[in-house]
Amino acid sequence: MNEREITGVIVDAGHGGVDSGAVNGNIYEKNFNLQAAEYIYDRLRELGIPAKMTREEDVNLPKNERIAKVRELYPLDESVLLISNHMNAGGET
Ligand SMILES: [Zn+2]
Repeated sequence: MNEREITGVIVDAGHGGVDSGAVNGNIYEKNFNLQAAEYIYDRLRELGIPAKMTREEDVNLPKNERIAKVRELYPLDESVLLISNHMNAGGET
C-alpha cells in the first residue's frame, strides 16, 4: 500500500453571506457551519495538526471561489484532508 502523510486539514464552513443554506425562522445553516468549522479548526490546532479554513467570517463563497480557495491553501501535490461542514434541515415526521 502506498501511504502518504497528510500535510494538513482544510476545514470548510458551508454556505455564507447571501447563501444562508437551510433556514428555519431566524436559524441559518451558514452560522452553525461556521461554528462547527471553528471548533474543529481550534481542536486540530490544539492537537498540533496543521489546519486552515476556507472562510472565517460570514462571507459568500460561491462554488468556483470555494474550490479556488481550497487550491490556494495547499499545493495541489500535497495530501490534504478536506472537511466540509453542512447541517441540513429535516422534514416533519
Ligand atoms: Zn449546506
